[in-house]
This record gives sequence, C-alpha cells and structure tokens, in this order.
Amino acid sequence: MHTTQLVDPFGRRITYLRLSVTDRCDFRCTYCMSEDMVFAPRQQILSLEELYAVADAFIGLGVRRVRITGGEPLVRKNLLSLLQRLGARAELDDLAITTNGTQLAELAPQLRAAGVRRLNVSLDSLKRERFAAFTRRDKLDQVLVGIDVARAAGFERIKLNSVVQRGRNDDEVLDLVEFAIARGLDISFIEEMPLGSVVSHRREQTFCSSDEVRARIEQRHALVRSSQVTGGPSRYWQVVGSESRVGFISPHSHNFCGDCNRVRVTAEGKLVLCLGHDNALDLKRLLRAHPGDGARLRQALIEALRLKPERHHFASDEQVQVVRFMSMTGG
Ligand code: SAM
Ligand code: SF4
Repeated sequence: MHTTQLVDPFGRRITYLRLSVTDRCDFRCTYCMSEDMVFAPRQQILSLEELYAVADAFIGLGVRRVRITGGEPLVRKNLLSLLQRLGARAELDDLAITTNGTQLAELAPQLRAAGVRRLNVSLDSLKRERFAAFTRRDKLDQVLVGIDVARAAGFERIKLNSVVQRGRNDDEVLDLVEFAIARGLDISFIEEMPLGSVVSHRREQTFCSSDEVRARIEQRHALVRSSQVTGGPSRYWQVVGSESRVGFISPHSHNFCGDCNRVRVTAEGKLVLCLGHDNALDLKRLLRAHPGDGARLRQALIEALRLKPERHHFASDEQVQVVRFMSMTGG
C-alpha cells in the first residue's frame, strides 16, 4: 500500500490535496457567491511560489493527487507556470482542475501540455436563460465551446459537475446525461451544500436528493455500480452501453466522511481539514515567517492532521452551519 505520512486520528490516509489558487471568479453562481462578493486583498492570497511550496510539502509527505480549484482557477494570472511545475512532478498520479469552463477555449491545449490530466467542468443547465440565472452571467455558449476545445485537447477524462435544484434544473437531469453520453464525458450530480448564506432561493425548498436524481436517470438508462474507487465523495455508476459514468455527490443523504482522503488549502493559505467545519491552520503565516523552510511546513501539516474532524454535520435545513462560501474554500 502507498505510504503517506499524513494519517488522521481516525486512521484515514490523506493522499489528495485540493488547492485553491484564487477566491475570484468571472461568475457569481447563486449557490456559491453573492453578486457583490468582496474578495480578499491580493497580498492575502498565496503567491504562485507559496502555492507551489504548499503542494511540494504535501507531495513530500505522500500526497499523490492534486486538484487545482478556486474561485475560478483559470482567472489566476500565470497559473500555467504553477501547473508546469506540478505537471513535472513524477510522484503525482493525478493533476486535475475544476473550472467553470469560460477560459477553456483559449487555455485547454496549454493545460494539457502542462501535464493536467483531468478536468471537471461545472454545467448546471443547457438552457441559456437558466444558465445565466444560475451563474448570473450569460456565457453558456462560451462554456460549451470550451468543453469542445477541451475534448479535442486529449485529457484522460473530462467530467461535468451539476448542482441539482428542485424546480430550477431538476427537469434537465436526463438532458445533461444525454449531453455527457454524446460526448464521452462523465457527469456528477451534486446536492447543494449549506455553505455561505444565499438570497436567490431557499435551500430546503430546492433540495433534490441524489437518490431521486438516480431514479430519474434509471427511467431511461441502465446503471451499474462502477468499480472505480476515488476515495472521494462521489459514488460512480456506469451508464450501460456508453463510455460515460454518472457520479453522485451527496453530502446530505449519504455521509461520505468515513473514507475521506483529502484536505483543502484555501487561496489565502488556510488548511481546511473538513468542508463542514471551520477549524483551519494558517499556512500563510508560517510560509511568510519561514520562507523556504519545507521541513517546518511538513511538520506543521503532520501535526495539523491530528485536528481533522471525524465527519461533517450538514443537515438539509436552511440553517447556515459554515459561514465560508465554497468559492473561499475551494470546491
Ligand atoms: N469555479 C470552478 C467551478 O465552478 O467549477 C471551481 C470552484 S467551484 C466552488 C467547485 C464546485 O463547487 C462547482 O462544481 C460548484 O457547482 C460547486 N459548488 C459551489 N457551491 C456549492 C454549494 N453550496 N453546494 C454544492 N456545490 C457547490
Ligand atoms: Fe465561480 Fe465556481 Fe463559485 Fe460558480 S461555483 S461562482 S464558477 S467559483
């Protein structure tokens, strides 16, 4: 078995880092940000050098998969230089990006050349007006072109991510699955998480469980449980007769914490041990007090793992339990 020095008090082995490279975004998805979102001052955001130092420390301790996220990671200036350095790390089994897709038409070939293997692209609706209502930006066409350019760029896998909301896009579940199948993509359906407070909808009214989404898909397609183990929150099903897999991320209806193998680092350098808890370690302070001291950073990470909570406690009511928005934590 792969050895990692990052083991938490519950015996979970941390091999996966989600690294947020910015809290900014060119969208304002209603479940993720407010329209008048205030972003962190630039000096509070980790520099590319600091981001690399964080990733390097995790890789040195046994992390084998890194996902770059945000905010919208592709709006970060010179991100390619960071990706090239990470892409050159032979220890990594996977380097992936989660993106809203707006920059893919321009950047997808360069991302692939830098060593990015997999892409997740968020897509909640195929209808222009709905898409604009979800994201508060009228850019569906740009995203669809970006997906096509990415398909041609030769990534190992491209997966769509769709947050499903009752009465808002739950009637598009099958259309989104057909879209994925026609293009050989995977797709994950996500239950909305209570991160940050939202004004556009009441979450308890729009909640749509993964079991319900799966039942809808099974009205048209046979699904068989996929053997793929991601060590992540997604449970995958193969769509029979296609290359596509359907995943379900169900923080409410299926607690996935038992085999959680991941930690997150925010764009401001906070090590977040669990999406559902507010406790975090300030890596930026350490990085700036002791620049270049990789050994000290690695030691701090090992010690911080002792604080990883056993599980989150999201409930499907309107109460906001975590004040951070997903865009701050890194989705
Ligand atoms: N901007 C990129 C994107 O949209 O793919 C990366 C960051 S975004 C925060 C990552 C993922 O988190 C997206 O798929 C988004 O739909 C999801 N997300 C954001 N807020 C969420 C929430 N409250 N509940 C569930 N998923 C959420
Ligand atoms: Fe931006 Fe992604 Fe959040 Fe939408 S989900 S506002 S694209 S960070």
